[in-house]
Amino acid sequence: MRRRWLFGDQLGPAFLDHPDQPVLMIEAHAVLRRRPFHRQKAHLILSAMRHRAAELGDQVQYLITDTYREGLAQVDEPLDVVQPTSWNALHFVDQLATELDLERLPARGYATTRAEFARWADARGGKRLLMEDFYRDSRLRLDVLVEGGEPVEGRWNFDAENREPPPRTDTLGLPEPSWPTEDEIDDQVREDLDRLEREGVRFVGEDGPRTFAATRAEALNALDDFVAQRLPIFGRYEDAILAADRWMSHSMLSAPLNLGLLDPMEEVAAAVEAYRHGDAPIASVEGFVRQVIGWRDYIWHLYWYLGEDYRDRNELAAEVDVPDWFVELDPEGTDANCLKWALTSVREVGWAHHIPRLMVLSNYALLRGWNPQQMTDWFHRSFVDGYDWVMVPNVVGMSQHADGGILATKPYAGGGNYINKMTDLCGSCVFDPKVRRGPTACPFTTGYWMFLNRHRERFSRNQRMFRMINGLNRLSDLDELVAENPELR
Ligand SMILES: Cc1cc2nc3c(=O)[nH]c(=O)nc-3n(C[C@H](O)[C@H](O)[C@H](O)COP(=O)(O)OP(=O)(O)OC[C@H]3O[C@@H](n4cnc5c(N)ncnc54)[C@H](O)[C@@H]3O)c2cc1C
Ligand code: SF4
Repeated sequence: MRRRWLFGDQLGPAFLDHPDQPVLMIEAHAVLRRRPFHRQKAHLILSAMRHRAAELGDQVQYLITDTYREGLAQVDEPLDVVQPTSWNALHFVDQLATELDLERLPARGYATTRAEFARWADARGGKRLLMEDFYRDSRLRLDVLVEGGEPVEGRWNFDAENREPPPRTDTLGLPEPSWPTEDEIDDQVREDLDRLEREGVRFVGEDGPRTFAATRAEALNALDDFVAQRLPIFGRYEDAILAADRWMSHSMLSAPLNLGLLDPMEEVAAAVEAYRHGDAPIASVEGFVRQVIGWRDYIWHLYWYLGEDYRDRNELAAEVDVPDWFVELDPEGTDANCLKWALTSVREVGWAHHIPRLMVLSNYALLRGWNPQQMTDWFHRSFVDGYDWVMVPNVVGMSQHADGGILATKPYAGGGNYINKMTDLCGSCVFDPKVRRGPTACPFTTGYWMFLNRHRERFSRNQRMFRMINGLNRLSDLDELVAENPELR
């Protein structure tokens, strides 16, 4: 049996062929010197790798080096490696395979294989690769919530029951999620990161007790806790934000899932079992399943299917540099309450749920014309669950519309009124979501109209934007708005 070289996001049992297989792990620090990552992201990854090494004991050769090449130079036996998760790492492994005795294996950790996705996409001539169609195909192929070829309870999609505005309470009233307990491995990681900082390595964000699972046991515990406590109302407030409830009913499983500690199908099985036992309603369970085998796999496959150049797309010619306060996760850089809140979450824990990412942070970037490649890099560095494969389609495609509409047929742009409807953040803001001009103008509302105006010609050709462009045409004070906001023209 060859020694399996495991990357830091291949840590679960599914990445070995046999429990006794010899393993190589290389903790390469050069990547930390290249650009500033969130301190808690660096901590999570190093902690997860070292915990896995401790579990493997003598089975693992664990090397701490500057670069992978330095580590590989110390190994003198045949290796194999599961396909890594970024284009850069894939090219690196391909190159190594011409120099070393290194066998390359297909990717693991996703519900649909690359070959299955390619079959599905090619059957459509590579066009109209809609998530909804992919998701239904996956439900059937994987036999999830399906009976006799039909979706259980007669529908594929329960969005109509989900996505309500937030309740009029401060929180959803759920118990505090079950957090991991740090141990001596975390103490050692913290000491090492402190030392690296003294040597000049820069991090962003705050240090803090580790929030996300770093071991298989912690990940399984987090999954159980989610299914028991939060899954039953997962769908209902999926699209809402409550200022005093950072976690709401989200699973917080993206980090352990992307580290390879959990398998998507075991998450799905746990959620479906809760439904079968009557512990969670179909709307919530379907909503969660859609995220895991729908959205997550769809994003993973598009990363490869759309090719390496996809990351450079900038169809809206958004060239404004992301400002320093945003890069440094400094909430004092803005007076906008929603932005302050979302940046504070990222600063404090390296995480915010889907809606602050999409409706607040990246919506703002889209409206201001910030550069999509800089935004991709920002998300990658600042979020504990951020990896190249997941950031590129989510940022370039889903949130910045920089692919011109491949991933989403219309841009995810929203003004203050939408944020006001779906959050409780506007009431305590110095701005007024209804106002687009003057000292109390909400930057999202002003930004929304200016964004539509800036791209009026392109969007006029998009049927799905018809209503929005109509709204723009009816603005009585558009000339004044444009004159007052030269930076958004
Ligand atoms: C601009 C932007 C950047 C994002 N960056 C990341 C990222 O770096 N890493 C990441 O894992 N997710 C990313 N997402 C997707 C999603 O926001 C997170 O997966 C989710 O918020 C993580 O929290 P959770 O585990 O509580 O998710 P839940 O709300 O509990 O959802 C369940 C699971 O569904 C999966 N999922 C749902 N939507 C997506 C999606 N669009 N892409 C990939 N997986 C999805 C995740 O694995 C998640 O754990 C991003 C979304 C946007 C709009
Ligand atoms: S008023 Fe505007 S800036 Fe303030 S919280 Fe609401 S959407 Fe954000």
